[in-house]
This record gives sequence, C-alpha cells and structure tokens, in this order.
Amino acid sequence: MTIDVTLLGTGSPLPSPDRAGPATLVRAGGLNFLFDTGRAVNMRLAASGVVPPMLTAILLTHLHSDHITDLNDMITGRWVMSPEPNPLPITGPVGTSGVVDAILAMLEPDIGYRLAHHEDLNVGPEPVVTDVDGGVVFDQGGVRIVAAATDHRPVEPTLGYRVEHDGAVVVIGGDGVPCAGLDELCAGADVYVQTVLREDLVRQIPFQRFLDTIDYHSTVQQAADTAQRAGVKKLVFTHQVPAPAPGTEAEWIALAADIFSGEIVMGIDLTTVSTA
Ligand SMILES: [Zn+2]
Ligand SMILES: [Zn+2]
Repeated sequence: MTIDVTLLGTGSPLPSPDRAGPATLVRAGGLNFLFDTGRAVNMRLAASGVVPPMLTAILLTHLHSDHITDLNDMITGRWVMSPEPNPLPITGPVGTSGVVDAILAMLEPDIGYRLAHHEDLNVGPEPVVTDVDGGVVFDQGGVRIVAAATDHRPVEPTLGYRVEHDGAVVVIGGDGVPCAGLDELCAGADVYVQTVLREDLVRQIPFQRFLDTIDYHSTVQQAADTAQRAGVKKLVFTHQVPAPAPGTEAEWIALAADIFSGEIVMGIDLTTVSTA
C-alpha cells in the first residue's frame, strides 16, 4: 500500500503567482491529511479533488503566518460544505488552540450571518483542536502519525510529522534546521518533504530581514545531509527560498545530489510523489 503526497503549495511568505503558500496533502489508506494551511490552500485542494469536508485532520507544523493564513478558510469550508455537523480535527504545536479561538472570534460576524440565513444550520463551526508537543498524534484506520519537536528557533514550538501506513513512511519536516528530532522522524523514510533554502542566492540579496532567514531554514545541502544520514529514499523540496527562477531547477538538484544518493524531487505546486 502506498502513501501519496501532493504539494499543494510550495511558496513562502513572499507572494508568487505560481506558488501557493505552504500546504501538503498526504493520502493514506483512504484518509486525507492536510499539513499546514498556507495561502490559497483551498484552491489547490480543489485541484487535487479534495474539499474540506473530506479531510481526516489538519496538522500544523508551526504557527508562522505563511503556514496558517488560510486556516480560517478550511474551518469555514468544512462547516458550510458539510450537510451534517462534521467537526474538523486540528492538531498542532502548543499555542494552536489559542490561534483557532482567535480565528473563530474573527469569523463571528460571518458565523452569525450564516446561522441566521440557513434554516438547517443550527450550530457554528466546531473544530476539535489538540495541542501536542510530540508522540503519536493519530492512530486509526491503519495510519499512524508521530510528531516530534523540530528546530526552527527562535520560532518555538515547532513540529515535524512521520506518517506510517502498511510499511510505507512519509515525513513532513516543516521549516527548520537539522536536529535529532528530525533525524528520528526521517529514519528509513520513503519520502521526506523538506522546506529548503539556497544560502548562496539569499546572500546576494542585501536586505537584513531576508538574510535572517538563513539561520532557521535547512539549506539544500543540510536537507540532503539529513536525508542521507537517515537512509531516505526520496527527498522532496518544497517552500524553496528564494522561489527558484525558471530553468534553475537542475542547479538545486545538483547541489543536493553531491550529498544525497537517493531520488530528489524539485517540488512545484501540485507535484505528487508516492512511496512506491
Ligand atoms: Zn514557512
Ligand atoms: Zn516558519
């Protein structure tokens, strides 16, 4: 049995006409897991044939704005598109429940309009939020998901996730630099999806706020190191910083191929990678 991974959004905080914000769909055993909910996630989800009522759970790697800008759209979509009450499970690092409470407060006027307008709608959205700091966060239907703390300091807390199904393993590394938690998640993984940064390119942009991003993202080489050390089969680049100029994809892959001997996938929106 395979796990399918679709990169819904491969962008970063910088807007791009071609790259939606960070979000990754993982399909295993007939279940649909959405990791992060960046800009335009609902559009890319629709392109993948999935609508919010079909999500098994949303799992957040961290609370940086680019990863949660459209969480409100998922909460509203789940609510209004489900014919029956269909609470949305949301798992994330400590602090997630506070963010969801604030989103629900922001949506209060809209929730009021819809409750007043629709005769058959009697209750507002009811996301079920679980703040976690690691361990097994999902174990049903033959799918097990394990979370571990990652290193994206000074952003804390942050999580990476390992999805296991019938011997197949996918890791969502999230933002961050190599660390023991990430190594544990990645051990023997079939597919490892990692946010990456090209330090050589970022250094050419003389803007301190941009240079600061080097400290807390894996470079292409660091991601390759983690993948090689863990015995990963396929390394998938997402959330590339800066957004790759067309025609430069082979450069990114070559930098990693010097270090990592497995398959390297340069992600664009809606790339799907399978464990087998
Ligand atoms: Zn990010
Ligand atoms: Zn981040």
